[in-house]
Amino acid sequence: MLTITEPERQIPVVAQADVVVCGAGPGGFAAAVSAARRGARTLLIERHGFMGGLATAGLIAPILGHTAHESCVPIVQGILREITERMHAIGGAPSWAQALNEWGIRFDAEALKIVLDEMMQQAGVEVMLHTLVSDVVRQNQHIQAILVETKSGRQAVQGKVFIDATGDADVAYRAGAPITHGRAFDGRGEAMGSFFHLAGFAPLSEEQAHAVLQQVEHEMEDGRFHFYNARFLARNTHHDDHAAANMTRFGGDADLAQDLTRAEFSTRRDVWDLVRYLRANVPGFEDCYVQQTSPQVGPRETRQIVGPYALTGDDIHEGSKFEDAIARGSWWIDIHCPLGRTYPVHLCTAECPQGADCAYWASHHDQMRGRAELYPPPGDWYDIPYRSLLSVSVPNLLAAGRCISATHEGMAGARVMGTCIAIGQAAGTAAALAVQQSCAPGEVDVETLRRMLREDGQLV
Ligand SMILES: Cc1cc2nc3c(=O)[nH]c(=O)nc-3n(C[C@H](O)[C@H](O)[C@H](O)COP(=O)(O)OP(=O)(O)OC[C@H]3O[C@@H](n4cnc5c(N)ncnc54)[C@H](O)[C@@H]3O)c2cc1C
Repeated sequence: MLTITEPERQIPVVAQADVVVCGAGPGGFAAAVSAARRGARTLLIERHGFMGGLATAGLIAPILGHTAHESCVPIVQGILREITERMHAIGGAPSWAQALNEWGIRFDAEALKIVLDEMMQQAGVEVMLHTLVSDVVRQNQHIQAILVETKSGRQAVQGKVFIDATGDADVAYRAGAPITHGRAFDGRGEAMGSFFHLAGFAPLSEEQAHAVLQQVEHEMEDGRFHFYNARFLARNTHHDDHAAANMTRFGGDADLAQDLTRAEFSTRRDVWDLVRYLRANVPGFEDCYVQQTSPQVGPRETRQIVGPYALTGDDIHEGSKFEDAIARGSWWIDIHCPLGRTYPVHLCTAECPQGADCAYWASHHDQMRGRAELYPPPGDWYDIPYRSLLSVSVPNLLAAGRCISATHEGMAGARVMGTCIAIGQAAGTAAALAVQQSCAPGEVDVETLRRMLREDGQLV
């Protein structure tokens, strides 16, 4: 391989903190605000110009995992409830009581951005936006500093405890800690996808909406579109003046810039194929337009840390409970075809219509779950154990969000935003406790951690 030798450079230390949180998505923003409120000097690093992760950069909505399976009973509160109430106060989300009666919390991504700006400032979190975590400096087993790239060049940030909330376990990977990547069979993770907002069409009756969805579905059957579902009229956000659709899909490795680039081109092309079709063929859609596509394509699954415990599909299906529970999840084993195949292929289950045309199905179908085996028991949840947030090799590292320790099946449930926020709150609280007690995150007293989480409104 062609290589270039970089001359040795002095890297300025631009910030020092007790807790350094890398990535400001659902895992990271909850971690940062929780650590700061528990008295830790906290720094939050984010590559975009706003916080929220896929909730804002991916336009992903609604927030799932807030209630027990098939129930209105809350299993996550704390920071999730607070951001919902703050968004509600500015017209960007339903009230908490309303949200409990819906399958997910529909919200406005712009409301979330401003709510997070305000929460971080009020909690005293030092936020560095437009800052990319690019490397890690280790001293023995510990992370000593994070290296970041900014417009001013390469800089270093020192801390005592580091939280990897990059979604892709960038920090663990750069630190040389053991990581996993997708399913064991071929390392593939779930397909990527993106949301888009469609506007400029006339209001439809239920009957009309049904007819037009069927029309699009017929076109999908004929191979005209590359979507995995036809629900382009979905109302996933808080406002009714546009649809927010989750239909696109791309199979690739979201750790590779080349695959991410292909995914961006492919998903945008698919959206415009639909818009051109609707304008030409569906009355009332002549003037429809793409209000926005998500600023980035969404990875569902990439790298994850290896912790003392990996959450499994059986844990989800059985509703496992753990003594070191620090969060609760209820979303199911929702594996979007890792090959990125589209309609009529949807989930990776024993019933997949692709059958033996898929190497994974051909070799694993007798062990694969059927649709009925994907869910936690009705009215129940599964615990997320604290051990899944720890790294087996880097003592001052915690993970939050979708890069915690879990199997391919385990992550297919734990990755939803309500669960990631609950995990983030626990990671931030644990980091602050470790700093306060001058110990490693793996040495904190978990009962004390659980008590602190309950004091802060969390259900554990
Ligand atoms: C197509 C799709 C549909 C989905 N649908 C739903 C849904 O309906 N409901 C639901 O609840 N969940 C859904 N999810 C899952 C959910 O959005 C994610 O799993 C969740 O956002 C993960 O949170 P996170 O904080 O771990 O990671 P992310 O949301 O990915 O946030 C990571 C943050 O870290 C930043 N970052 C990454 N690397 C670096 C770096 N090196 N330096 C600095 N910053 C960095 C990113 O910019 C980002 O802000 C969906 C996901 C996809 C892709």
